Amino acid sequence: MKQIAYLLLFTIFLSSCGSNNNEQPTKPYLIILSLDGFRWDYPEKANTPTFDSLARVGVRAESLKPSFPTKTFPNHYTIATGLYPDNHGIVLNRFHAPDLGKNYSISKRETIIDGDFYGGTPMWNVAEMQGMKSATLFWVGASADVNGRHASHWSLYNEELPMDSRIDSLVNWLSLPEKEKPHLIMWYYHEPDAVGHHYGPNSPEVVAEVEKLDAFVGDFFTEMRKLPIFNQLNFIITSDHGMAELSPEKVIFLDEFIDTNKLEFWDGSSPVLNLKTKPGELEEVYNNINAKHDHLLVWKHGEVPEELNYGNNIRTHDLTITSDSGWSIYWSWKQRKSLGTHGFLNSCKDMHAIFYAAGPAFKQEHIQPTFNNVDIYPLAGKILDLEMPDSDGEIKNVKGMLR
Ligand code: AMP
Ligand code: ZN
Ligand code: ZN
Repeated sequence: MKQIAYLLLFTIFLSSCGSNNNEQPTKPYLIILSLDGFRWDYPEKANTPTFDSLARVGVRAESLKPSFPTKTFPNHYTIATGLYPDNHGIVLNRFHAPDLGKNYSISKRETIIDGDFYGGTPMWNVAEMQGMKSATLFWVGASADVNGRHASHWSLYNEELPMDSRIDSLVNWLSLPEKEKPHLIMWYYHEPDAVGHHYGPNSPEVVAEVEKLDAFVGDFFTEMRKLPIFNQLNFIITSDHGMAELSPEKVIFLDEFIDTNKLEFWDGSSPVLNLKTKPGELEEVYNNINAKHDHLLVWKHGEVPEELNYGNNIRTHDLTITSDSGWSIYWSWKQRKSLGTHGFLNSCKDMHAIFYAAGPAFKQEHIQPTFNNVDIYPLAGKILDLEMPDSDGEIKNVKGMLR
């Protein structure tokens, strides 16, 4: 069965290289799927015939390095804009924006759809501005009007929408008449993140979920192959971040170091928090955290190490604190139990994500060294023949995967 699936995928992609059909050349296509929290090495732990065959007919990156903080909303919007979270403004999943006098939260629909929070130019808007239709299915930022625009096809977030229905949406879009048909599609599914949090990244439950997702991606390709334009489609399957195992012994209680009476407020949750101190209290709060615990890190605004590209946006406030991989930072009164999480430094390999790609734009059997997720933006621009706005990504880092 595994062999058949591989052969099917392989044969069809191979046949696309020397396309001898009589179709008129049209604009290129790119379909980007994000599977939330799909750690770079999950396919090594599970039986994943679809991912394995994708690697053979296309590109597999050693890993995709997310941006700090390695959380869902900052990273999906980084992939969409090619900007680090500091530069696009979605600095955490939940934060206060002093520049707007408003709070953002991933669990408040009215804030998710508020375009004021989102900087940069998401790639669906770049496409639309250059006369190319685009579609999004639940990508972060896609249900907001950013600079007064959104994709031609989009809908409000609905986690309950089954996988099959998501595939149907793509099939329907790609079957539209040319003037409505999206050439860029960005879609999303919330697993294996949820299972990874609940059971931990090394659990049998994660293996089972990864195998389920592999089958889902296999079903997706089965449907795609039925489309007359299949040979023209480029695919990327990626993720926002990985997952680290937590241990009940590795817990730092923040109240041992921080007097909350000295704070105006704080944003975020384990393992990344941004603190706003009361006037005159910054030095004391900083000194009480700094070097007080071997696994707790703290930086003042503007002093976060350069390689993290973080802590200069007004929305990150006065202090950024985080912990070493695997360590939880909790307030003692608000302890939460989970066996896995993400948000840690992006130099930690457990935070790295998957990246697979296949289609006429991509080389075959190509292994791409680890690269930054900001580079997906110029890569998409190159594939779609779009003029991309300046970003933090660089095409030179990724063009080796293209034909
Ligand atoms: P987290 O693991 O806390 O960083 O966030 C993951 C969660 O974000 C997922 O389980 C989804 O419920 C949620 N999520 C992802 N994309 C969206 C979206 N576009 N709109 C609303 N919620 C989303
Ligand atoms: Zn995520
Ligand atoms: Zn998560």
